[in-house]
Amino acid sequence: MSEPKKLYIKTYGCQMNVYDSERMAETLGGQGYVETKSPDDADMILLNTCHIREKAAEKIYSELGRFKGLKTEKPDLKIGVAGCVAQAEGEEIMRRQPIVDLVVGPQSYHRLPEMEAKTRTGAKALDTDFPEEDKFEKLKNRPKAKRGPTAFLTVQEGCDKFCAFCVVPYTRGAEVSRPADRILREANDLVERGVREITLLGQNVNAYHGAGPNGDMTLAGLIWELNKVDGLERIRFTTSHPNDMADDLIEAHGTCDKLMPYLHLPVQSGSDRILKRMNRSHTAESYLRLIERIRAARPDIVMSGDFIVGFPEETEEDFQATMDLVEEVKYGYAYSFKYSTRPGTPAAERSQVDPKAADDRLQRLQGLITRHQREIQDAMVGRDVKVLFEKPGRLPGQMVGKSEYLHSVHVSDADVAVGELRDVRIMSSGANSLAGALR
Ligand code: SAM
Ligand code: SF4
Repeated sequence: MSEPKKLYIKTYGCQMNVYDSERMAETLGGQGYVETKSPDDADMILLNTCHIREKAAEKIYSELGRFKGLKTEKPDLKIGVAGCVAQAEGEEIMRRQPIVDLVVGPQSYHRLPEMEAKTRTGAKALDTDFPEEDKFEKLKNRPKAKRGPTAFLTVQEGCDKFCAFCVVPYTRGAEVSRPADRILREANDLVERGVREITLLGQNVNAYHGAGPNGDMTLAGLIWELNKVDGLERIRFTTSHPNDMADDLIEAHGTCDKLMPYLHLPVQSGSDRILKRMNRSHTAESYLRLIERIRAARPDIVMSGDFIVGFPEETEEDFQATMDLVEEVKYGYAYSFKYSTRPGTPAAERSQVDPKAADDRLQRLQGLITRHQREIQDAMVGRDVKVLFEKPGRLPGQMVGKSEYLHSVHVSDADVAVGELRDVRIMSSGANSLAGALR
């Protein structure tokens, strides 16, 4: 039998890319590839890229530069670029970096086997189509091998919202939801392979409206179906848009036992003037009222969010409105970014904020978020939480898992297996994690 070829995939960006990388590796498995952790012994290197901010995209070119030497040593090595940079820049990547053999967009990676075969003939392969066919149906069935207790599952892709700063509608295309039966089949397969927690993914996951047995199903409808899957213990979903937070989804947070009390609900800014300029179509007030309703349904829910500071024309007063909103919500987690100009998006043409002012605002916002994050984490001390154990810790006998609120929890001398769900009493709170003891 011939030696398996080795595939090195490096993933950048969001969880959807993590999921896509898994699926790409699986489909190339059909071409005789097995994954390797090092680019040095690879026959194919695939960078699954992110285009959301300029820095993320530029990183790809410097990473490709580092592979030049390898390619000279091993001319048969194939180098591919997948994901959103591939979609946005297409052929330009091959022009800028001639060592690249293959460029594949996020909607056409089911065609990777043919593309890989083409590169073996010495030709270059490029596919950045938005094909009609359902990529997930064309992909190979998922392998049956055992896997870890948590998994991502993409249920919705693309976005029709066109926020003025964002490339996603251009790189991922229009909003599409996968049919419910296919998602349920995939979820059942994952559970058979040892998965206990599934995070449903979508750029606008709560806009999900996939075909169900009685017409389109909402995300809440899908969650209720998943709630019936034996062996599945936890359901999460990300990322949601405030405008798509439907009543049935809010209610599910109070009534669906497997749906975890954690919600990522990006607001981007606390200033109505900026929100309007961002084309977000919600106000700070409507967002705060929404959170009130969510907390009424599930009082202990931990909120998470995304923020952009230094969006064009943002004044100190606008920024203060963001700080006020953060002070009111008190996020358990939040991701904040300095605005990054993305060519082709409406905001790119507008007058930019002084970068120093933007840096200063980002620092102040992150300081406030970190303080709240720490307060919420510290308030867990003395409480009992349920922990899904994911892996051994760094110390002998230690195990690490996640609480229902997504906090990392370490337990020393833990007589538990990976994949077990156990009650833990939280004893102390550290910089980024909690420590506890089994009950
Ligand atoms: N669909 C999600 C939503 O509407 O909140 C967000 C998806 S986007 C991949 C993740 C985050 O990246 C956004 O919430 C936003 O905060 C950030 N982001 C997007 N474009 C950006 C830009 N041009 N500059 C800085 N941050 C950006
Ligand atoms: Fe981008 Fe999210 Fe806005 Fe869509 S809703 S354009 S993914 S920030």
